Amino acid sequence: MVEKTLFDWPLLIYKDYDENLDFENRTKEILKNIPNIYTNSLDNFYKYFSHNQNISGIILINKNNIEEIVDYIRNINPKIPIVIFLTKNNNNFNIKILKKIDCTINIFEDTVFFITGQISNLITNYMKILRTPFFSELVDYTKECKYAWHTPGHSGGTMFLTNPIGKIFFDFYGENTLRSDLSISVPELGSLLDDEGPIKSAEINSARVFSADKTYYVLNGTSSVNQIIWKGRVTEGDIAFVDRNCHKSLNYGMVVTEATPFYMIPRRNKLGIIGPVNLNEFSKDYIEKITKKRVKMSALTNSTYDGICYNINKIKETLNSNVDNLHFDEAWYAYAKFHPLYAEHFAMTNSDNSIEHPPIFASQSTHKLLGAFSQASMLQVKDGTKEKIDFDVFNQAYMMYSSTSPQYSMLASLDVATAMMDYNGKELLNKTILDAIHFRKYITNLNKEAITNGDWFFSLWQPKKVVYNEKYINFEDVPDEYLLTNQSCWTFNSKNNWHGFEDIEDNYVLLDPIKLTIICPGITLEGEYGDMGIPASILSRYITLKGVVNEKTDTYSLLFLHTIGTTQTKQEALIQALIEFKKDYDNNTPLECIFPKLVTLFPEYYSNQGLKDHCQIMHNYIKKSKLLDFMDKAFEIIPNQILTPAQAAKEVFRCNIEHLPVKDIMNRIAGVMVVPYPPGIPILMGGEKIDKNSQSILDFLLAREKFERIFPGYYSDIHGIKAFEDKDGIRRFHTMVIKE
Ligand SMILES: *Cc1c(COP(=O)(O)O)cnc(C)c1O
Repeated sequence: MVEKTLFDWPLLIYKDYDENLDFENRTKEILKNIPNIYTNSLDNFYKYFSHNQNISGIILINKNNIEEIVDYIRNINPKIPIVIFLTKNNNNFNIKILKKIDCTINIFEDTVFFITGQISNLITNYMKILRTPFFSELVDYTKECKYAWHTPGHSGGTMFLTNPIGKIFFDFYGENTLRSDLSISVPELGSLLDDEGPIKSAEINSARVFSADKTYYVLNGTSSVNQIIWKGRVTEGDIAFVDRNCHKSLNYGMVVTEATPFYMIPRRNKLGIIGPVNLNEFSKDYIEKITKKRVKMSALTNSTYDGICYNINKIKETLNSNVDNLHFDEAWYAYAKFHPLYAEHFAMTNSDNSIEHPPIFASQSTHKLLGAFSQASMLQVKDGTKEKIDFDVFNQAYMMYSSTSPQYSMLASLDVATAMMDYNGKELLNKTILDAIHFRKYITNLNKEAITNGDWFFSLWQPKKVVYNEKYINFEDVPDEYLLTNQSCWTFNSKNNWHGFEDIEDNYVLLDPIKLTIICPGITLEGEYGDMGIPASILSRYITLKGVVNEKTDTYSLLFLHTIGTTQTKQEALIQALIEFKKDYDNNTPLECIFPKLVTLFPEYYSNQGLKDHCQIMHNYIKKSKLLDFMDKAFEIIPNQILTPAQAAKEVFRCNIEHLPVKDIMNRIAGVMVVPYPPGIPILMGGEKIDKNSQSILDFLLAREKFERIFPGYYSDIHGIKAFEDKDGIRRFHTMVIKE
């Protein structure tokens, strides 16, 4: 069934010379019953090939450029059949070409029937290569059109057809989505929880592809993955050593396991970008200084939101099995395995056996940067060099967080995401990274041009200079191919401080080229404010109105993610939006034209201002109020932990709490964590106390609260804080503290 559908894909044929009539007739005859598209423009051929995936094979009938064409095809698609049609006079190919093609056929030497059969075989084989362990079985099963007397109760969607609202739903999602929404009552497809059948095969395939010893498919996102890992390995009173730059789900991990956490504090630079944890924090001496007990679990975010990726082997070596379990939260980073630029910088990296390590866990939001449905994540496990995991035990934690009715389309998407990366992950990433490099150079050149003319433009947080041919040369002048293939271009070292982190260890972390941090004028890497400044929140509001939405907004920087699906048009739209911002800024265009809603809502604050005035007023305020300094200090300290996260959570669920304005929380214990976005790092965890020692946290929150009163409409997102007007009409931050 599947094969038949895929046979509808045409062959793509390229021909570069006018052959004699015999040849033409013969070709036509051979291809009579196979759908095909043909061109004799090489340019068209390349365009069609790179824009269309539904091609069943390539036939080349040409004399020139064979090597170039074959390379072009293989750089995009490693396995699509390539057949070269020969006449007597063009049959000398070198080994390099022969290795990359499937066959050459002299079309006069055999019968038409036989040659057609040969081509069909190649196509059939290609279609088999494209099958994946679970998704393909799901498709086959769905096409068998069986009556479903089992859940889900919508019965392949027919329930929706009984009602007009349901009909709209059915039509929107389409029959396939609903027919393939099956349950574990279908034995042919296996079972997620019993770990059998095609689902098991898919997980085994993922483990192979991601270099894990075992992979679990998890359908409630990495939020659940993180808790499963902890639940399966940590119990009450165990010591955990945790990156303070962790996702909130790790906090819940601590709550459900009743662990006692200690924190690693990541560095921050003067722009407010979060850097790596000090490597020496993984050393035996350091850990012994922090706690006398053995560390049960150590957790680190890799990469950070800003794209800093750790050299995992360095960490393993430094740790030297000083902790029982290592957990890397790679929610944003599941692609790292597939490109040599990230070698050694991802959790499942294979190290030589001389490096001892405990069991290693990685959580990956497959849905975030690979192709899977939202909430579909993977949990990857690598056994320790000595300690092997008892998976029957670990499985208990997995089942605790798993529904007994898993969504099969989500499982299929994990299977497909795996197969896609296995098929041509490196090629896909080559293109993605190259596109990101082009973008980086583009912005850098625009910036250079502006500066030369005494003007301003945005810049990127990236190496200014790169060692190339043993000399430091400007980033934008280094060949793309070199930046694509040399990790050293992206690794941090102390000699070339473009990043702003002090005392950086050499070759310990690298910047992921596809995470783009755009820096606005306003503050230098040394923390000096410029006269002129553009707060990133204004730029972000502006480009959002132009239909360009960024991932994260800091004080003077914005983060954009380049992903495998990023198109050139999307890039250009971003650049265009930046240019338009610059035009409106330079013209000081009235805010009424730019943010009409904002001005209508708060006329007493924003009318009669131009965009430039607006930026300047906010910049001056940030500068004068030392908002960034407050933030710096707030993130530097870890408050006294009076209760563990679990103990605090118990008080919360006993309703033994009060809701207080933040101004009144001095000497009180936080009930829930308080996490400002950005940077998304908790400044307070449940159970931690605000006191003299942690005054700076209070100062920061109050400074931010005041900022939002002065610039209404520029509201921050702080988890754990609710902002509303008190009875006196003043908008204040409120949070939950534990009753005294
Ligand atoms: C998004 C995220 C998570 C949670 O992942 P979901 O798949 O959204 O549940 C965990 N950790 C980090 C670092 C994240 O960014």
